[in-house]
Amino acid sequence: MLKCHDVVDQSSDYIDGELGFWRKWQIRLHIFMCVNCRRMIQQLTLTKKVAAIIGKDILRKEDKSDSCKHE
Ligand SMILES: [Zn+2]
Repeated sequence: MLKCHDVVDQSSDYIDGELGFWRKWQIRLHIFMCVNCRRMIQQLTLTKKVAAIIGKDILRKEDKSDSCKHE
């Protein structure tokens, strides 16, 4: 059984899908039973999603400014 600090240590890799099958399931099991880690993972997932959206948005704007020739 994983401890909370194990989950915290590997939370970033877990969200990025960089963990092995068994390790991923161990963390899932812990998250299922531990509300603190569940919240932590949810917040981290959200933060990463928002960062990805903002990152894409900035890239898209840069693309537009490059391709837009009028004005
Ligand atoms: Zn925990």
